[in-house]
Amino acid sequence: MNSIPLNEDYICRRCSRVFPTCCRLSPGMQKFCFPLSPHEIMTIKHYLQRDDFFINEINDKDFLTRLARLVPVSRKAVQTSFPLDNFHRRLKVNHDGSCILLGDEGCLLPARFRPFYCRLYPFWFRDKRLSYLNDDSCLAQKQVRKVRDLMLIFGADPRQLKMDFHLMMDNLGLGPNG
Ligand code: SF4
Ligand code: SF4
Repeated sequence: MNSIPLNEDYICRRCSRVFPTCCRLSPGMQKFCFPLSPHEIMTIKHYLQRDDFFINEINDKDFLTRLARLVPVSRKAVQTSFPLDNFHRRLKVNHDGSCILLGDEGCLLPARFRPFYCRLYPFWFRDKRLSYLNDDSCLAQKQVRKVRDLMLIFGADPRQLKMDFHLMMDNLGLGPNG
């Protein structure tokens, strides 16, 4: 592994020179953008003093199928929190698929105000174990493939990741307290 001290800013800045990054969606993928919870919207609204960064997106079958594959809860639980043909909220994206909160120097939000999904990425939990979401356009994953090496690259704290993951799930009504 590289001996240069690495951190999230370093790797993500380098990533932005070669890849669209995880802040830019491919055309047609907008509706699959991970949902925002009311708590996240309130936090961002409070920080930015504006509320033009999110939109309503329909809970259609494709969205529900994808979400149910991603989160470690049953399809039934997903549909209870995201009823079919109802709406959820997600970040707005520009015409090129980039998040509306992506500025020239990266995200307009300090890390602690970002949506949990953004704070976690690319980390995830499967069967209660720390894992990550495969992404061929993630520069960090081009360099290393083991969770522990990714944690080193991002300087990630597994306890914090776990806490953020559970809060994200709870806030979306997908946790045990949801
Ligand atoms: S909120 Fe920030 S980190 Fe999340 S997708 Fe938008 S620009 Fe990227
Ligand atoms: S895709 Fe990976 S390396 Fe690139 S900006 Fe996102 S987390 Fe950082």
